[in-house]
Amino acid sequence: MMNRNFLILLVVAGWVLGSCSNDRGETLEERAGCISKAEMIGVAGMLGHDLFEGRAPGTRGGDLAEAYLKSVCQFMDLQPGAGDSYFQPFVMKGFSNTGFALKAGGTSLEYIEDVVGTFTKEEEFIKVDGDAVFVGFGITTDLWDWDDYKDVDVENKIVITRVNDPGMYDTDIFEGSTLTYFGRWTYHIEEAARRGAAGILLIHTDESAGYDWNVVKNSWTGEELYIDSDLQNNLKFRGWIKENSLRKILDTQNIKLEELYAKSRSKEFRPIHLGTKIQIAGRNSFRDVTINNVVAEIPGKTEKRIVLSAHIDHLGIDPSKEGDQIYNGAIDNGTAVGAMMVVAKILKEFQSDLYYTVTILGCNAEESGLLGSKYYAQNTDRSSIIANINFESTPVWARSNSIMGIGARFSDFEEMIKTLAADHHLEYSSFSLTNQGLFYRSDQYSFARYGIPSVWISAGEDEVTGAKNYTEFWGKDYHTVKDEYDPEWELEGMKQTIEYALLLIERINNSQSPPQMKPDLSFPLED
Ligand SMILES: [Zn+2]
Repeated sequence: MMNRNFLILLVVAGWVLGSCSNDRGETLEERAGCISKAEMIGVAGMLGHDLFEGRAPGTRGGDLAEAYLKSVCQFMDLQPGAGDSYFQPFVMKGFSNTGFALKAGGTSLEYIEDVVGTFTKEEEFIKVDGDAVFVGFGITTDLWDWDDYKDVDVENKIVITRVNDPGMYDTDIFEGSTLTYFGRWTYHIEEAARRGAAGILLIHTDESAGYDWNVVKNSWTGEELYIDSDLQNNLKFRGWIKENSLRKILDTQNIKLEELYAKSRSKEFRPIHLGTKIQIAGRNSFRDVTINNVVAEIPGKTEKRIVLSAHIDHLGIDPSKEGDQIYNGAIDNGTAVGAMMVVAKILKEFQSDLYYTVTILGCNAEESGLLGSKYYAQNTDRSSIIANINFESTPVWARSNSIMGIGARFSDFEEMIKTLAADHHLEYSSFSLTNQGLFYRSDQYSFARYGIPSVWISAGEDEVTGAKNYTEFWGKDYHTVKDEYDPEWELEGMKQTIEYALLLIERINNSQSPPQMKPDLSFPLED
């Protein structure tokens, strides 16, 4: 009896994904259960190393990350994915300043303490001035019949805008507390640029931005990178202002910020002139910098392809910091690139089963606004891409009770991941941090905006141990020097992410019916 029960136990254990019954496994599912810690940490641990100096695009560490990933692709016998090269080069405009003065009437604000920002014209001395206009949320969209600008001309003005969207205060409009595309700071800048503004100041609060001033400061000091197509407008200055610092300007005009806010919550809102000019002056440096996306592929039976993506860049080094100066980005995005490469390695082993070609895209300059993936999507035959599966900040702790698909709700990916999760006795979860707009903040969005079904796949936040390491990561270590490699990582969440990405790809592959976008999207599609 004892022996028989023991045998049954062993057999059952062999079926459960996540356990490994032999060296490698014979099916893709079995192989997925046999992923080793060494496989997972091989690439991830390396990218998080201090030698990579935080992998900022256009720096030595950034160049090293490109070269390293290319080398891994060669070693794995993947095919070049950008013509006959593993590199897809593109030119970026880099701008940096050592500080600037912002004056409004008699008020002067201090760089970093009150404001941060970037001049985006190729001029050594830049002076931007214009009338200050508060534009509410600065949103114009048919989707919710909302237009903050109305017919007010803001050409050559400095617009001051709230970030986030009105749904933050009224759950019946937009998507309630779920941040929409129109709530992202990137959108507010795009809209101001379309309207010919000379400068934009985004009002920062922890609540509306979803992160504190330190994150803004770390992301907006140092070199800012742009692609040329995003600079073909009047906008000379883009930056952030602390809410309390804005109050200093408003006080001189006897304007109460709360009154401006109250007005901005209404559909009837019209831009409000603040009765003062804002002047921003500083010294600017700029350069052209050529960087590369790393692109490889595993050919299937058709040229139609599934693009796997993970960004290789991070924030680099801050020499002005005391102590640790390296933003290692070990989780953002070392473990995600690591996860993608394990998926690629295993798919390569099962290449003869692949119907769709699989492209492996190590995107660059994601932290600068998804620029590498944007460039890739703009300069690739998009009709050949049936889907995108993105890896971002892959969790490294215990296994989770759920699988999460950020952005899955916009396409058939939602049903597919739900079914996959249910088949493995897991929940399908969405991220609790819906107020952060994470779908629009990583490379899957560069595909979705062209109508390509895309998803950021990850083990969920609800670890089987009850711990909330992943949720805490976003509030504590994300975009700080504490995002570091730790040899103690359990890596079970990473393993799970890899397993379910593989099974998802297998299902798309076997059904040979690509996922489709859902009809009602809450972001604009481009041609
Ligand atoms: Zn990231």
